[in-house]
Amino acid sequence: MKTALNLCYSRIQDCHRHSILARTRSNREDGTETTMLFTRLPSPIRHALIAGLVTPWLVLSVSAAPAQGETGASSTGKKSDVLIAELAEDENVEDVEDSVPLKHSERERRSASANTRSGAGIDTPSSPARKVAPNIDLKQVAPPPEAQPATQTGQTGEPPGPEVATEDTGTAAQPEILPGEVFTLLGSDVMPGTSTRLAWTPGIQIAGLSQPTPVLVVNGVNAGPTLCLTGAIHGDELNGIEIIRQTMYDLNPEKLSGRVVGIPIVNLPGFQQGSRYLPDRRDLNRHFPGHPEGSLADRIAHSLFENVIRKCDMLVDIHTGSLKRTNLPQLRADMNNPEVAEFTRGFDRMAVVHSTGSPGMLRSAAVAAGIRTVTLEAGESHRIQQHQISAGVNSLTSLMERQGMISRMFVWGDPEPVYYDSDWIRADHGGILFSEIELGARVSKGEILGYVSDPITNAQHPIRSTSDGRVIGMAVDQVVMAGFAAYHIGTEAEVPGE
Ligand SMILES: [Zn+2]
Repeated sequence: MKTALNLCYSRIQDCHRHSILARTRSNREDGTETTMLFTRLPSPIRHALIAGLVTPWLVLSVSAAPAQGETGASSTGKKSDVLIAELAEDENVEDVEDSVPLKHSERERRSASANTRSGAGIDTPSSPARKVAPNIDLKQVAPPPEAQPATQTGQTGEPPGPEVATEDTGTAAQPEILPGEVFTLLGSDVMPGTSTRLAWTPGIQIAGLSQPTPVLVVNGVNAGPTLCLTGAIHGDELNGIEIIRQTMYDLNPEKLSGRVVGIPIVNLPGFQQGSRYLPDRRDLNRHFPGHPEGSLADRIAHSLFENVIRKCDMLVDIHTGSLKRTNLPQLRADMNNPEVAEFTRGFDRMAVVHSTGSPGMLRSAAVAAGIRTVTLEAGESHRIQQHQISAGVNSLTSLMERQGMISRMFVWGDPEPVYYDSDWIRADHGGILFSEIELGARVSKGEILGYVSDPITNAQHPIRSTSDGRVIGMAVDQVVMAGFAAYHIGTEAEVPGE
């Protein structure tokens, strides 16, 4: 697969010159069949495709997708007012439910502002001397990065670098290709056409014992936007770590326009302890953009935000469900922000749920700083789930192609996202939850999704769907109390969040 894909990565203009892109549609009913085309085809077809690379592109038609689900009656909109203690909640339940509805006028302005800011992280010549980062083939085993002296956050207010190129987020006309620039991050200069591993040190540990957090950087040979990927801000959310690894290690700096910065494990202490939290039991994703003199979480958030996040034009923060809940791969995006709404269009046929986000989330803080940001949710915590990972990698690859950063031959699936309005259905009784349906299932209003079984009285309490739609998130079987959010039902929407 890699050989074939590498063949089809070529400079953007080549790809577009040939550009009969074989946009294949697929039947991705359950949203998990998003592996690259080459891994799915029987080998005679695969060989035919590879042979086709030297000639104009093969137009391939896999089965046309049936319409994604029957959206019918809208959801009831009646939400339970039970306030169960869910302090540990991710943006799974409350943050989605509390989202500000979409504003129409905002939406109409959306298309006007689709341009990509470019050139972040390019320092002005007056910047202090830095060291040049070693060019490391990320595919090789490389020595661990050296700890950087804690970067003083004061210097990060430096003005954004000069505009290098204006990327059009559309896929039609490609701008001329300009050579890449030196990318300065964490005190190192990453030369164009190279990749490296840097180290971010928030400076909160005993200096001699501090363990730097690896930051992978691929600086493309051509100019383009800077995409940042963050994983494991909650240390027990593992799928994102693997999504970032697979995405970063598949990049070739010689064929990249722009830069990709990946921090697979932001919350290293939490990861090492299998914990969602920081050592002080705080949720790091409630402390952005942070403060240099605040709590431990504030300081870590501030250091990350000032030293890395501000260098990004685009950010995808990768999470999973929490509290034994699992999510269909989906984006959480503030559709009230026109630039973010446009940004969601690049992720291939990924589900998008409108969510304005909560204060302190990395997503909210980054959007406030002018960085187009979404949260990508995939699967559940404490687990590595290959289907969810493949979906995430595929959507990030689509995004990079859409942003003109890479070229790939085939697009797997309908390029448009699917927008959902959503409602959580809560258990009304305590007991043991047994689900009758699976994640991704299409359900009808009134259909039984599962039962809460009382282990003492043997009572069975069915939980029914409140609308026609799709199960985009759900609790795994477990002991629940009344008020526990058990099923997240999405109904397709032209524009979500209204
Ligand atoms: Zn999370």
